[in-house]
Amino acid sequence: MNSGAKYNESAGMMKMSLKLLWKNTTLWRNLVQWSFFCWVLYLGIRFGQFVQHFTSQGVAPFVARPSGVDGFLPIGGLASLKLLLTTGQFDTLHPAALVLLVTFLLMSLAAKKSFCSWLCPVGTLSEGAWKLGTRLFGRSLTLWRWLDVLLRGTKYLLLAFFVKIVLIDMPSAAIAAFLKAPYWALSDVKMLNFFTQMSLTTLIVLTVVIVLSLFIKNFWCRYLCPYGALLGLVSLVSPFKIRRDTTTCTNCRACTRTCPSRISVHSRTRVMNAECTGCLSCVEACPHNSLAMSMRGLRNPLPRWMFPVVLLTLYAAGVGLGMVSGHWESALVYQDYQRLIPMIDLLSH
Ligand code: SF4
Ligand code: SF4
Repeated sequence: MNSGAKYNESAGMMKMSLKLLWKNTTLWRNLVQWSFFCWVLYLGIRFGQFVQHFTSQGVAPFVARPSGVDGFLPIGGLASLKLLLTTGQFDTLHPAALVLLVTFLLMSLAAKKSFCSWLCPVGTLSEGAWKLGTRLFGRSLTLWRWLDVLLRGTKYLLLAFFVKIVLIDMPSAAIAAFLKAPYWALSDVKMLNFFTQMSLTTLIVLTVVIVLSLFIKNFWCRYLCPYGALLGLVSLVSPFKIRRDTTTCTNCRACTRTCPSRISVHSRTRVMNAECTGCLSCVEACPHNSLAMSMRGLRNPLPRWMFPVVLLTLYAAGVGLGMVSGHWESALVYQDYQRLIPMIDLLSH
C-alpha cells in the first residue's frame, strides 16, 4: 500500500472514531454529570469553610458563602414559590432556593426530567452505585412488577405530603413569617450539620439506602425522591419525547433492556412516561437508529446533541437570570451569621 492510501485509511479511521465518540451519548452525559457533581462538592466544601469561620469564632479564615448551596433547600423553595405566587414577595434569605427550584421545574416542563439524569448529584451517585453493584455482583436486581409499582408510589406519597403541608395547609402569612425566621436563615447550616453530624438513625437509613442502591437500579430516585416525582409529573407535558420509527425497528428490545427506568421502549411509538429522564441510553443502544428524541411540531427527529444543549442552556439561563436580577445572593450579612450560628442548637422552628 502506498503512503497516500495509508494516509487516507488512517484519516478515515480517525473520522470514524470521532463519529463514534460523538455518538457516545452516555459518555457525554456522564461527563456532564460528574463535572456538575464535582462543582456541587466544591460548593459544599466552600460552604463548610464558611460555617467553620463562624463556629471557630473567626479563627478559621473567612470564605464567601456560595449561594448555590440553596439548591439543597427545595422545600423552602416550594414555600417561597407559594409566597411569590400569592403575594408577589420574593424570599430574600435564600433566594437561590427559589431560583433553582423554578429553573428545574422549567427544565422539566421544556426538556423532560433531564435534571435527574444530567445534573442531579444524588442521581449521579445513585447511577454510580448500581453500575458499581453490577460490576461487583454481575447483575442488578429487578423487583417484581407489583412491588415495583407499590414502591414507586412512595415518592408520590412523600410529594403529596410536602405539597399538602406547604402549598395547601400553610397560609401565605405563615410562610412569610417562616421565611423571615432565624430557623430559615440557618436552614442551610442545619442541612450541612445533618450530613456532617449524623445521628445514628440517619446513618442507619443512609447505609440501607446505599446498600439497596448497589443492587437496585436508581433505588433512591425510582422509589423515594419526592423532588424527582414532582419533576416527572411536570415533564409529562414536555414537547420532547423519545419516538420510535416502527418502519425500521426490528423489535430486538435492546432499548428496553438498557433503559434504567425499566420503560418498555420497544412497544411504544412515543415514550410518554413520568419515569423517563431523557438519558438517551435507549437512543444510543438502538442498532438501527430507530429511536430519537423528537420535538412536538417538528417532523424530523432532533440530532442527539440538541437535547443536552437545550437542557444546559435552560439551566444556565435560569441561574443567570436569577443572578442578574439580584435574586441569588442572600440578604444576610456577616454580622447576621456571627450572631445566629452560635445559636443554631437553640433553633427548633
Ligand atoms: S426511555 Fe430512553 S431516554 Fe427515557 S429513561 Fe429510558 S433509556 Fe432513558
Ligand atoms: S433497540 Fe431499536 S430496533 Fe431494537 S426494539 Fe428498540 S427501537 Fe426497535
